[in-house]
Amino acid sequence: MIEVKNLTKRYGDKLAVNNISFKVEKGEILGFLGPNGAGKSTTMNMLTGYISSTSGQILIDNVDILEDPKKAKANIGYLPEIPPLYVDMTVEAYLGFMYDLKKCKLPRKSHINDVCNLCKISDVKGRIIKNLSKGYRQRVGLAQALINNPPVLILDEPTVGLDPNQIIEIRTLIKKLGKRHTVILSSHILPEIQAVCDRIIIINKGEVAADGTADEIAKNITNEHKMTLRIEGETHTASDKKAITEALKKISGIKYVRADMEREKGIYDYDIETDGKTDVRRDINKVCAENGWNILMLQLSDLTLEDIFLKITMGEENISAKTSSSAKKSPKLDLKIENGELKASQISDDLPGAAEAEENKGGEE
Ligand code: ADP
Ligand code: MG
Repeated sequence: MIEVKNLTKRYGDKLAVNNISFKVEKGEILGFLGPNGAGKSTTMNMLTGYISSTSGQILIDNVDILEDPKKAKANIGYLPEIPPLYVDMTVEAYLGFMYDLKKCKLPRKSHINDVCNLCKISDVKGRIIKNLSKGYRQRVGLAQALINNPPVLILDEPTVGLDPNQIIEIRTLIKKLGKRHTVILSSHILPEIQAVCDRIIIINKGEVAADGTADEIAKNITNEHKMTLRIEGETHTASDKKAITEALKKISGIKYVRADMEREKGIYDYDIETDGKTDVRRDINKVCAENGWNILMLQLSDLTLEDIFLKITMGEENISAKTSSSAKKSPKLDLKIENGELKASQISDDLPGAAEAEENKGGEE
């Protein structure tokens, strides 16, 4: 339904979107996940023909958006980051105006009524838009995107600024819309994307950093092992934490270390990722012993989507999760210290990525 090839956008010197390519199948709900400034809105603005690209191609139902913008755009309903509402109009007058603008041929009254019912705004049809709550205004924004029943819906951060109840309502509505439309939805909030989308593209710094289902993205990263190290430092001040992080990073085979939250007073967890080839446990033990840091726990865990997202967006390397690559199965080990030695016992052959991704569903921001 949508095909994007080598799409690039420069604003002067600034490369906002860098050579991204992806496809969206008919009926899919695709989530664009990325931090602020990642290039989500820029990409959506190009997809909808709102701004032009610097280079690359966009096909909407096989129609090139630059060659035949009218025809391509007729297939798209767009809810931009800031909904294009005429706030002095009533909801009904505004939707009528959008109906005319889009040269909609569907029966006027019943179509507008249907859209209002779907977006649950029938009860405020006669009200002036500026007097509506943010949740209602957002639904009016969605309603204008739905006028003319376009097969493709592009929704830019549709739940930003809404309260938790309104967020759930909008999500439910989007899921419902996904049954009849191809939807691209952007958000900087992982649980939101996980709750609504069939497939996720993680965008970071204008590039596609991962593409696949939540499970696929999580599973394909599992050959890079993550472990949690819980240690007790003497004081565990900020400089201690830095020293610990630095010392761990020096261990051959360790690729990434992040100090996590304080568990108890003076006891901290460190997230560690290895290259997946080197067994780093003995070296960790040695380094900690040399420095007088007590290891209270060392546990292997595979990366969840949240870890991946954090890692990507916190400036670590980009991960290209290829949906087709085969995930390496690895045993899950339970590690304990006995008589000053690390002992490992296998507790499960299953990769927990999928289960954890499932658990993350439904959370609020
Ligand atoms: P996102 O929607 O993911 O938050 P944007 O697509 O809005 O990101 O922005 C991507 C990058 O492009 C940002 O660094 C932003 O500052 C820059 N940018 C966006 N719009 C413009 C513009 N009109 N002129 C210059 N830079 C822009
Ligand atoms: Mg944006």
